[in-house]
Amino acid sequence: MAASDPAQILRTAEGQVPGVHRWRVGAITITAIADGYAPLPMAVVPQADPAVATELARKFYAPEDHLQCVINTFVIQTPTRRIMVDTGFGALGAGHSGKIWENLRAAGIDPGSIDVLYITHGHPDHTSGMLAIDGSAGFPNAELFIHQNEVAYWGDEAQASRAPEEQKSWFDIFRRSVAAYRGRTTLIDRDGLEIVPGLRVRELFGHTPGHSGLHIADGGEQHLFWTDIVHFQHLQFPRPDWGVGFDADPAQAIKVRSAMLDEVSTDRMTISGTHLVFPGFGHVRREGDAYAFEAARWNYES
Ligand SMILES: [Zn+2]
Repeated sequence: MAASDPAQILRTAEGQVPGVHRWRVGAITITAIADGYAPLPMAVVPQADPAVATELARKFYAPEDHLQCVINTFVIQTPTRRIMVDTGFGALGAGHSGKIWENLRAAGIDPGSIDVLYITHGHPDHTSGMLAIDGSAGFPNAELFIHQNEVAYWGDEAQASRAPEEQKSWFDIFRRSVAAYRGRTTLIDRDGLEIVPGLRVRELFGHTPGHSGLHIADGGEQHLFWTDIVHFQHLQFPRPDWGVGFDADPAQAIKVRSAMLDEVSTDRMTISGTHLVFPGFGHVRREGDAYAFEAARWNYES
């Protein structure tokens, strides 16, 4: 029996349990599926004052010598449709990432049962699992929804040639991944577009030109999936003015982050994010002129 078999892992009481967690919004169920995490150098947060960053890492018990970029994906089950939201590093995953396939299996979700694939933006930690190991569409029956700004940006030759050397492969990954869904792709062209009943696009441009989350509502309940508004929670809730080096428009990314933190803390809205520590559900609390994240409590009924 494979070591990744969930029943086997639970029997041996060793290794981590499957990275799966469920959350309810009315009659809609969101299942967080862990892709894992990737270690990154501190330089990924260029504005960070090293002394302050170390102090925050100590305060929040985060690693002090590197950054851990957590990667969460989500499956949203509405009464009629099943939506996969982003795909992690998938087959490109190494070490502690690329776990979506085994965690989908642990959650009892067959990739063939996904009706809609929603891609928030074109970075490889969101798109690489769009392809199966053999290069075919990882979600063979899914219709792809992606913002038109992303397709324009990652499809632009001039943009690709201007990109830093280490980002050039990202353009190629994006193009191959999207090409596998040719003929069944819908380009998102506006804020508020309803993908399926209860799920509306929330444009959050800045991190990338088409970076978009989802507003999820059912039965009087609401939830916001904000994808990459925060990458490192121990740094960016206290210092929302610190961006990441791969923000396409750094000033706009900071502006959108500040606006979102203000909005969801004022509205007391539950949020989820790709890079919040798994499973990534919780609330944002205002603390002076900064913010803090309060992880959601475990709840069998949630
Ligand atoms: Zn990301």
